[in-house]
Amino acid sequence: MGLHDSIKFSNSNHFMRSAEQIDILLQDSKLSADHRQVAQKVLDNQRVTFDEGVFLFEHGDLSFVGALANYVRERKNGDQTFFNRNFHIEPTNLCVYDCKFCSYSRLIKQRNDANAWAFSMEEMLDMVYKYDGKPVTEVHIVGGVLPQYDLPFYLDFFKKIKEHRPELHVKALTPVEYHYIFKKAKVSYEDGMRMMKEAGLDSMPGGGAEIFHPEIREQIAADKCDADQWLRIHEIWHELGMRSNATILYGHIEQFRHRVDHMERLRQLQDKTGGFQTFIPLKFRNQDNQMSHIAESTAVEDLRNYAISRIYLDNFDHLKTYWPMIGRQIAQMSLAFGVDDMDGTIDDTTKIYSMAGSEEQHPTLTTQQLVDMIRRVGRRPIERDTLYNVLNDFTDTVFEEDKAFRGYVELPVLS
Ligand code: SF4
Repeated sequence: MGLHDSIKFSNSNHFMRSAEQIDILLQDSKLSADHRQVAQKVLDNQRVTFDEGVFLFEHGDLSFVGALANYVRERKNGDQTFFNRNFHIEPTNLCVYDCKFCSYSRLIKQRNDANAWAFSMEEMLDMVYKYDGKPVTEVHIVGGVLPQYDLPFYLDFFKKIKEHRPELHVKALTPVEYHYIFKKAKVSYEDGMRMMKEAGLDSMPGGGAEIFHPEIREQIAADKCDADQWLRIHEIWHELGMRSNATILYGHIEQFRHRVDHMERLRQLQDKTGGFQTFIPLKFRNQDNQMSHIAESTAVEDLRNYAISRIYLDNFDHLKTYWPMIGRQIAQMSLAFGVDDMDGTIDDTTKIYSMAGSEEQHPTLTTQQLVDMIRRVGRRPIERDTLYNVLNDFTDTVFEEDKAFRGYVELPVLS
């Protein structure tokens, strides 16, 4: 049996079990007609409507939405749980914008702040060289928006990375940066994205989406690109035959209908282009920002949000958790609530989560640690490249450290 055959075999067993779970739900005589209708739709692989999405947020308890989401997850991806080996470069945390939820950035006038940085091209290339000979497949580049990081700068930077290491996948910048850079350079989105592609940009991460609805966006991120501009830049990128991701920043002042509206806009664009790979819900964290008075969402709400995202975005192949942001245990649990991707091994190269107050202040995981996290909750760890090509199936891998005897040992008697 080859790698792909064995993955399919495992998928079908689990998929049958998750379908049985929904059958059990449907046999519950106390299930309301509305719950039953949504469950039946999910079982029949039919799309839930906007109103049904809001209904799930308002009336879907954790076990109900979890069972539906796990079914969708296993129908799409079986037991596979993807990760990649990447590192981050954050060029600067100085920013011309002033998003109210941002714990990470500093205004230009705060450039002498101890927590502010702005790396030169040489410093960033040194970060790339540091990974020479290491088995990373992706560099993830994202940070603040500053005038000196302009179109020529990034074209040059991407070209230099590719000249040095052509196979390293460059996943970089969001429409927030691109909108600013192209406007300053007086080039159209179309021309700008084409230039980025020619310089070596391979894909776009999903950041900067926040909440699309203007009722919320104008309060929390009024001055950066709006929803239409964010979506248009992704659409142009997809039309160039390229792939990208999408995020939502949830759990602050938005209402459930704003979350569903956000996903609806993404679902519509995905119907048109098919260029999104994965959806990444990002939890609002309240440390050191202008929204610190707002309570953070609970772990139950985080899991419900993953689950409803998985149910609603029927045309997205993958749902990702960022373990550095949500913490390792909730990330493990999320694998039963629709999530099939744990992002990367990272290497303590990002400050975005730690500065926002996440559990992981120095996020580092070795491949073995990430593989163990996935295996311990009964899933199959699959190393992927950025475009979800399977590189390694770690399900049965025995690491050197595993060879040490781990069976019964008599504990010393302490007296
Ligand atoms: S979220 Fe991004 S665009 Fe907004 S202030 Fe922070 S770094 Fe700048």
